[in-house]
Amino acid sequence: MDFKLSEEQLLIKEAARDFAKNELLPGVIERDEKQEFPKEQVKKMAELGFLGMMTSPEYGGSGMDTISYVMVMEEISKIDASCSVIVSVNNSLVCWGLENYGTEEQKKKYLTRLASGEIIGAFCLSEPEAGSDATSQKTTAIEKDGHYIINGTKNWITNGGTADVYLVIAQTHPEKKHKGINAFILEKGMPGFEIGPKEQKLGIRGSDTHSLIFNDVKVPKENRIGEDGFGFKFAMKTLAGGRIGIAAQALGIASGAYELAKEYSKVRKSFGTEICNHQAIAFKLADMHTQIEAARHLVLKAAWDKDNGHDYDLSGAMAKLYASQVAMDTAIEAVQIHGGNGYVKEYHVERLMRDAKITQIYEGTSEIQKVVISRGLLAE
Ligand SMILES: Cc1cc2nc3c(=O)[nH]c(=O)nc-3n(C[C@H](O)[C@H](O)[C@H](O)COP(=O)(O)OP(=O)(O)OC[C@H]3O[C@@H](n4cnc5c(N)ncnc54)[C@H](O)[C@@H]3O)c2cc1C
Repeated sequence: MDFKLSEEQLLIKEAARDFAKNELLPGVIERDEKQEFPKEQVKKMAELGFLGMMTSPEYGGSGMDTISYVMVMEEISKIDASCSVIVSVNNSLVCWGLENYGTEEQKKKYLTRLASGEIIGAFCLSEPEAGSDATSQKTTAIEKDGHYIINGTKNWITNGGTADVYLVIAQTHPEKKHKGINAFILEKGMPGFEIGPKEQKLGIRGSDTHSLIFNDVKVPKENRIGEDGFGFKFAMKTLAGGRIGIAAQALGIASGAYELAKEYSKVRKSFGTEICNHQAIAFKLADMHTQIEAARHLVLKAAWDKDNGHDYDLSGAMAKLYASQVAMDTAIEAVQIHGGNGYVKEYHVERLMRDAKITQIYEGTSEIQKVVISRGLLAE
């Protein structure tokens, strides 16, 4: 077993850390307050190659491994989880899905621009009546004269208003249930494609979440991804990798909250001493750090599995389940360690606490991760 990171992996981690500190920290409180999409910051992340990290350079990406990707996700999430979810969706769900399952034409037309960050993408699976139960797709895609006609509504779509390219999952053959589902590439501005109002959220408020409405949207047949009926498998395969990214986001939120709490505990005094000298606070730090290390190992193991051609359905689900719980617990304790200051915006931990919650919900709730893990275990 070798835990040593390569020189290249360490350099990219350091670059992400510097970037987050210098470019994301200034203004993060204001962006959260105003629910402002981090447009300039996304441009800079594109310049650094963070938007197509695992995509081959042949298609405009950085050609890095999943380990590097999760380390960048962690560093960005320590400061701004709204930015890291943009990185995660574009990398794990959109670019990875297109590179692995798209046709050469689809890759040339869409992937190169997405991986370079010239445009960003969205992944559209959830619906008002199909969240955890993603097989219940009500959006339809009916084949007609060499096109598909798409009708329906998607909910909660990250990058919903800002994306240019949307991977949309829809039902073509309801009688075949999940085997009748397809995935399509849609472009913003296609006639009949409407973007609903922006959601007002608890956390990751800089991220742009919308519902999408499709009224007879005509999509060329060549925009279908994979064989007829491949859509559900496409979504599940893509989300399996996506979970590793969200697990890394959760890890970053936890580490960010822990680092702030530790620093604060060394300067804040009560009863004549720094609060870190009270065992109740020191033990909190010990628990936080131990749990973060355990989460980091799960995240890196899942990334390593993916990089080395092993199955990562289970390791990714375990990483997400555990890291998201650690993010929530750590952020709550970080607020506690800050006392009253933890409850106000300028100390950052209240935002991290609000941001942590989403990691237990999207890309499969914690309950659904347990379904994935237990099914995997029982099938062994
Ligand atoms: C900010 C945000 C961004 C998002 N971004 C995207 C995106 O980009 N693309 C996209 O497609 N979706 C996105 N989602 C949707 C997200 O993936 C879903 O909200 C999530 O999968 C849960 O679905 P739901 O909200 O319908 O909850 P439901 O499925 O209604 O679940 C409600 C509760 O019941 C539990 N539950 C449901 N079924 C079971 C079961 N079988 N066993 C045990 N418990 C169960 C759930 O765990 C949950 O606690 C986003 C959501 C949010 C809030």
